[in-house]
Amino acid sequence: MEKGRLLYEGKAKRVYETERSDAYLVEFKDNATAFNGQKRGQIEGKGRYNNRISEILFGFVEEAGIATHFLRSLSDREMLVRRVTIIPLEVVTRNIVAGTLASRVGIAEGTPLKRPVVEFYYKNDDLGDPLINRSHALALELATMEQMSWLEETALKINGILQREFSKRNVILVDFKLEFGSLADGSLLLADEISPDTCRLWDAASNEKLDKDRFRRDLGQVEEAYREILRRLEG
Ligand code: ADP
Ligand code: MG
Repeated sequence: MEKGRLLYEGKAKRVYETERSDAYLVEFKDNATAFNGQKRGQIEGKGRYNNRISEILFGFVEEAGIATHFLRSLSDREMLVRRVTIIPLEVVTRNIVAGTLASRVGIAEGTPLKRPVVEFYYKNDDLGDPLINRSHALALELATMEQMSWLEETALKINGILQREFSKRNVILVDFKLEFGSLADGSLLLADEISPDTCRLWDAASNEKLDKDRFRRDLGQVEEAYREILRRLEG
């Protein structure tokens, strides 16, 4: 599959056209950013790890009957995906309090939630991806009422699938971010990536962080954490 025109270069990936009008090539980069791009760096090997980890996790989601954009792997850092129109919402699901939720509601990081929380962030770099609610999303016409309900239900289903798969591998799924897109016929697919860049993953025995928080918080051993997640998923 030939790489066509570069359509978009984001913080973690590049998106290219291909000879197929219905498919894009996604290339995963080693670049890492945090705090809306204020902190920048490189994580050796991250592109390769995230490409493969996403492929495996999309596989679990597909097996459970939820459609994803994943078509096939093209190289160690490239995958072919179905072209979608991205819904400009980041759908975050949380099982344990961490990150911005801890400061927003004044509960200590690490506190388990009584039930999972689903949040929507408006995907807009200029605004710093603000937290919004369902009525904002409807008023801004980011999604329809039916789509909002489907996004929440589907995020919770995916949460169950990923929690189960990670727990088999002694990893706690603390929280994660998903992006969805639509096809021309209006059907919705899981898109983008699922990786240690977009999930909080803690070792079940030690609570050690195995995700991008090691980069955000300068904890060291960043590459090792990504490699360990892939090792457990492949093992
Ligand atoms: P960003 O810096 O905006 O997070 P990334 O580096 O993650 O960008 O690059 C991926 C971009 O491609 C994102 O904007 C994402 O929404 C978009 N994208 C992901 N999957 C698809 C797809 N199947 N079709 C079209 N766009 C996609
Ligand atoms: Mg992204």
